[in-house]
Amino acid sequence: MDKRQLQHHKKILLKKREELLESIKRNPFREEGLEARKGDLADLSDRNSNNVINIHLKETEAKLIRAIDEALLRLENGKYGICTTCGKEISRARLEAVPWTRLCISCKEKQYK
Ligand SMILES: [Zn+2]
Repeated sequence: MDKRQLQHHKKILLKKREELLESIKRNPFREEGLEARKGDLADLSDRNSNNVINIHLKETEAKLIRAIDEALLRLENGKYGICTTCGKEISRARLEAVPWTRLCISCKEKQYK
C-alpha cells in the first residue's frame, strides 16, 4: 500500500475515532446514570430497556474505538491492510468499507462458520 493510501485511511480512522468519542460524550445517559447510581453500578436490574440498549451501544462504541486504535498502531508499524490471521493483503474495497478491519474477507467468513 502506498503512502498516500495509508494517509487516506489514517484520516478516516482518526475522524471515525473522534466521532465515536463525541457520541459517547454527548449521550446524556452517561452522566445521568453515573449521578443517579453512584456506587451502585453493579445493580442493573431496574434499568429500563432503553438504558440497556444504551449500555450495549457504549460497549459497541468502545470496542470500535479499540479496533481503530489497533488499526492506527498497525498503520504506524507498516502492517496496516495485512490480514493478522493469514498475512495476505486485505482488499482495498474491504478497507474502504471497514478501515479498522484486521481480517481479510475469507478469514472473516471462516470466523463465522
Ligand atoms: Zn486472512
